[in-house]
Amino acid sequence: MNIFNLSFGKDSMATLILAAEQGIPIDRVMYCDIRFSPDISGEHPLMAEWIPTAEARLKELFGVTVDHTYSGVSFIEQFFTAKKSGGHIGDIYGFPHTIGAWCNDRLKVKAINKYTSRFRGADVVHYLGIAYDEKKRWKRTIKKSTEQKKYRSLLYEQGLTEHEAFTICEKYGLLSPMYGKDDIYRGGCWFCPKQCYADLHSLWRDYPDLYSELLRLEPYSHTTFSRNMSLTELTVRFESGYIPQRRKRRTEQLTLESAERY
Ligand code: SF4
Repeated sequence: MNIFNLSFGKDSMATLILAAEQGIPIDRVMYCDIRFSPDISGEHPLMAEWIPTAEARLKELFGVTVDHTYSGVSFIEQFFTAKKSGGHIGDIYGFPHTIGAWCNDRLKVKAINKYTSRFRGADVVHYLGIAYDEKKRWKRTIKKSTEQKKYRSLLYEQGLTEHEAFTICEKYGLLSPMYGKDDIYRGGCWFCPKQCYADLHSLWRDYPDLYSELLRLEPYSHTTFSRNMSLTELTVRFESGYIPQRRKRRTEQLTLESAERY
């Protein structure tokens, strides 16, 4: 059974398109729905708005239906959950650490396992969107293969880079508008502890309601949202005119390069 893990980002979308173009059976397409609260999506608002459009387009172009899987718990619910094991029993989870972030396990992996447990006993091949220029990530991934669970990456196998993934998505009108926004380059949750100050600044500036949700949680957390500064301190700096520089600009560069070809 072929399961395509779709995040609606360029790499997993390009993988799905390649499979459709090349006649590779698409048995299931799985999207992991991560939520901030039961009512608020974890996706960046631009992405959350685009997902239903992309789903309709996938259906129309390739007859593909996307299954949504949810862990059953939102970020905020897990944030306030008391730990039952480990070194801090009784403490609430609070903000995740940047290394070994609990959200990856509790919100994402749990949802994926819940979905794949439906196919226990079947030989499953997971198709992942890992580009040719992500060699280390691909090597890490294939080490996790088992007899019944294998991984494939069409982009990697066919020597296609992230740049080419952009082009493939654009060709079908399936490139997320996230990539067109001038100062956002990453996918993932808007409340991700791994995001850079530049993304937090963008959230503060364009989506103050969401930013306030994080600020509201800070007093309850034993860890600060970001390693070097509290959100309260960061907010004061934003309000004083601080505009952080980006840590890296790779995808932004890719977007520009891709746009230049058209
Ligand atoms: S994108 Fe960030 S917040 Fe979302 S699950 Fe991954 S590590 Fe956690």
